[in-house]
Amino acid sequence: MRVGLGHDTHRLVAGRPLILGGVRIEHPRGLLGHSDADVVLHALTDALLGAAGLGDIGDVFPDSDPTYKDCDSALFLRRTLERLGHEGWRVVNVDVTIFAQEPKLGPVKDRMRRHVAELLGIESSAVSIKAKTGEGVGSIGRAEAIGCQAVVLIDQ
Ligand code: MG
Repeated sequence: MRVGLGHDTHRLVAGRPLILGGVRIEHPRGLLGHSDADVVLHALTDALLGAAGLGDIGDVFPDSDPTYKDCDSALFLRRTLERLGHEGWRVVNVDVTIFAQEPKLGPVKDRMRRHVAELLGIESSAVSIKAKTGEGVGSIGRAEAIGCQAVVLIDQ
């Protein structure tokens, strides 16, 4: 068994869709990035790569590659799961914490949980999605950014 930790932060700006855990959320602002900037799927991808000792998301999916411009970040997760699968790894469970002052994520946490479980090919009982505000402190607390931390357990 191996454990992996992932972290990501993206700036919250006008004129971009907000996509978290592969779920589109109605909000006047979205996350800025080369891809769709889904901090949840980025943190999960990094956690999986870390657990398997395969580098980080920037090594494997560089933002200099035009293939990934505005792409659905599920692509990063799928490709990473394929690589882990080739090495005999399966995902046991994931635990995710999203840091967002806005929007309120309570109403969409369950949709995210089911969607992430589907992407990972595991039961939704093995996926945890938690949300915290920044308590008004720092860039996340000022709603300038959204952050995410993910922990995964994989088994060979
Ligand atoms: Mg990212």
